[in-house]
Amino acid sequence: MLTSASTHEVLNQAPPIVPYNVFEADLALREALEREGGAWGVDRLRDTGELAGSPEALAHSERAERNEPILRTHDRYGNRIDRVELDPSWHWSLRQAIEREMHSLPWRDPQPGAHVVRAALFVVWSQVGSGVMCPVSMTYSAIPALRESPELAEEWEPRLTRPSYADGALAGMAMTEKQGGSDVRANTTRAEPLGDGTYEITGHKWFCSYPPCDVFLTLAQAPGGLSCFLFEGRDPGFRIQRLKDKLGTRSLPSSEVEFQAVRGRLIGGEGRGVATIIRMVNHTRLDCLLGSTASMRWGLAQAVHHTRHRSAFDKLLAEQPAMQNVLADLAVESEAATTAAFRIARAYDEQDAPFRRFATAVMKYWVCKRAAPHAAEALECLGGNGYVEESGMPRLLRDSPLNSIWEGSGNVAALDVLRATVKEPEGLPAFLAECELARGGNQLLDAHLDRLLAATAPAEPQFEARRLVEGLALALQASLLVRHAPPVVADAFCAGRLGDGGRAFGTLPSSVDAPAIVERALAA
Ligand SMILES: Cc1cc2nc3c(=O)[nH]c(=O)nc-3n(C[C@H](O)[C@H](O)[C@H](O)COP(=O)(O)OP(=O)(O)OC[C@H]3O[C@@H](n4cnc5c(N)ncnc54)[C@H](O)[C@@H]3O)c2cc1C
Repeated sequence: MLTSASTHEVLNQAPPIVPYNVFEADLALREALEREGGAWGVDRLRDTGELAGSPEALAHSERAERNEPILRTHDRYGNRIDRVELDPSWHWSLRQAIEREMHSLPWRDPQPGAHVVRAALFVVWSQVGSGVMCPVSMTYSAIPALRESPELAEEWEPRLTRPSYADGALAGMAMTEKQGGSDVRANTTRAEPLGDGTYEITGHKWFCSYPPCDVFLTLAQAPGGLSCFLFEGRDPGFRIQRLKDKLGTRSLPSSEVEFQAVRGRLIGGEGRGVATIIRMVNHTRLDCLLGSTASMRWGLAQAVHHTRHRSAFDKLLAEQPAMQNVLADLAVESEAATTAAFRIARAYDEQDAPFRRFATAVMKYWVCKRAAPHAAEALECLGGNGYVEESGMPRLLRDSPLNSIWEGSGNVAALDVLRATVKEPEGLPAFLAECELARGGNQLLDAHLDRLLAATAPAEPQFEARRLVEGLALALQASLLVRHAPPVVADAFCAGRLGDGGRAFGTLPSSVDAPAIVERALAA
């Protein structure tokens, strides 16, 4: 009971959003799953969505983030042990992902829609924490590269795809060196053939996420040129030098490692290192796109929920027109990311190589680049509460730039698209043909497509690379929304991104139906 001395009556604070079903609440995701061939996965997604939005998952997520990994390089007697200590909550989250086949579904059960269902599971579980999704993604992505060597695939694929945390195996990737990450041709790590089919690998890697993995794919200079190798994490020559003190994904141990005569086995031919590991990279890029899609969705849900429960100036924030514009703008960005990500995931099911390769590169660039400003704006919707760790929003913001750096930083990703227009000439036409399917559905999109067709061969290609890729990305997002989303969403996206919308979020023109967009984003 309140007394006159009471000072601590809590008013006008939003209740926790949990429990809520992360999948059920996301209409754009549910529709994308069904549209792109993953309807058979609805039950497992509902189940995963319920767990992802439970107080239990939230508690594990917060605890894993709080209790950061610790590297123990030596035992008490001075022997090297190179062991990373992880909080039990980290293991809980990773175990759930593995047991739910987020690392393996399309390889174990390659039925139509398997990549799409896995993509949806990835988006849902990323919202518990993005850190554990790194080993999940690398293990999933290693399989296409591993299959370049049937003997190694036969040995390792059964373990890498097993949905068992205790008996399965995890794969990592170690490419980046001190002197160059984007330019892997500058790698100095050497691989000397031992004559028995194996190689002795000596050198270092400047970034190696999740060093507890069972196997790693790495690049090293062999006599025939830069080559891809598999080695085992338990190799006595594998040294973890230190863990990175990072901006975000702090629950994930990322490390610097050295190889002291590590025993490696060749995947693909000597000199084919980039061509082999790119098969892995193409899949991790899809996951970067999915991870950033999840980041936007999580931030949006928090922003809408908070503003529906907090009043200022005699009205709920969510009913204030300026806030409605911000929320609607965040919502259309999130839906555009989701819609494009799942169309691309379907291309992995359909082995639609030209569209898949080109669209992955374009959307990896754009969606990952949008994640950080989206997170910053979602955070601001919570005001000062959003700046405080307990809200989870600072963590969202810290984690949000990573996907844009990893697996091809912004410029490199944009230049890769440029390169693909020349080296893989079927990619751009396949991409534009997909965009053209929406022609006639929105005048702004039609005009954008006309401009794009006139601009695909810029005078200063590298200088204009980002501009070109941004134009392509917006075309695909707009065209998919025009074809599949309710007109309120598609029209708002086209008006805001292809019309005379502003630079910041919250600058949609007054013609849009913001309340309808926000209601679709998260049912009240
Ligand atoms: C948290 C985290 C985890 C990571 N985990 C791993 C891992 O597990 N395994 C692994 O191998 N790597 C990992 N990385 C490394 C990551 O892949 C590299 O940092 C990334 O590829 C960029 O390489 P770099 O850091 O050497 O930057 P650089 O190559 O030096 O690039 C610096 C900047 O220059 C730009 N740039 C590069 N080339 C050009 C060009 N030709 N024209 C214009 N601009 C250009 C880039 O876009 C970038 O913005 C991780 C990184 C982070 C942050």
